[in-house]
Amino acid sequence: MAQTRRQRLLAASRNSGTGSVQDGHRELPRIASPSSESTSPDGDVDQPTSPSSTVSGSASQNETYTAEISLADFKDSLKPDVCIRCLRSLFPGTGGVNLTCLKCHKYLRRPENASEKVLHDVVAKWAAFWLAWRRRHLKDKFAVNSMSASDSQGATFSFELGDLEDKDDAVQDLPGIDNIVDMVDGELETITFSEDEKTLLDMAFLTYLQCDSAQVTMYPILHKYLQHAKHIIRIEEVCFTPNHPAFTTHCIWRMTLQNRRQYAVSLTDRQLGWLPLVTPWRQYVRTRVRTLGSIKPLGAQFYVAEAADPRLNRFLYSWENNFERRRRVNRKMNWYESEGVLDEWKAWNRG
Ligand SMILES: [Zn+2]
Repeated sequence: MAQTRRQRLLAASRNSGTGSVQDGHRELPRIASPSSESTSPDGDVDQPTSPSSTVSGSASQNETYTAEISLADFKDSLKPDVCIRCLRSLFPGTGGVNLTCLKCHKYLRRPENASEKVLHDVVAKWAAFWLAWRRRHLKDKFAVNSMSASDSQGATFSFELGDLEDKDDAVQDLPGIDNIVDMVDGELETITFSEDEKTLLDMAFLTYLQCDSAQVTMYPILHKYLQHAKHIIRIEEVCFTPNHPAFTTHCIWRMTLQNRRQYAVSLTDRQLGWLPLVTPWRQYVRTRVRTLGSIKPLGAQFYVAEAADPRLNRFLYSWENNFERRRRVNRKMNWYESEGVLDEWKAWNRG
């Protein structure tokens, strides 16, 4: 069933007029203030995580889109030696992926913090599942770019959005990167990655431009979970302008616990170099948010994706460039793929 619908989507995107393709990118529609209404043709102001300065990509006649990502944009998330809750350094030799320090571990074990403990545990599980899900469905292609001494940006990667019309629908591998030449204090230096750093690098790639995908594909799980949850009483979808030089928009969840404490929860912050999965809401707003955008009920992005028109129609969406058009189609793809996510979640939990 899902396959048939998906084939129909691909046919629709192929049959629509694409015309000539323009290079470069345009500013995405401005994020709305909490009180303003939707303005875009999709009825959606919550454009997903969007690159700005880093994406200097080019669109070709066959509708592929290649972007460049700088290591500098997410380098801070490649740190296996800090606690993902408080960002303090872990004891030397005790590092790893997604670990908390002893102090945070003790804090979360106190009875009065039981709800926050449950939230951390549940979100860690969602994150592991969603990353595994991304790996299984990954169509985007990544490659390391060569560097020369004239590069002032440091190491970069090229990134091509998955081909929607690929008949084989091939799942891509992430590049296995052992070391990379990067700019450190103005000098080119070879950095050798540890196994943990390589895992964190994978996480940054898997989350790149995926905040809307996470909200759409995880919706069936979060919706189902919320019906039976003891500790989480409300989940909202929040979009904002992040405190980050390369991104104009980012979307996360705000979760309200039974004790009324609120937390920012994100499975895709690693692409911005941010390690925590769960952060007290006020702290997140203070440190990560430049301008708060919209706050909508759980499912808002899912229903936008459901309503999205998959046709690559230049006349209908004249404000879009090629990149944005592909993102719209990808959003619809996420909606189609979310059909099977509950079954995958059940199977993953059994395994
Ligand atoms: Zn800690």
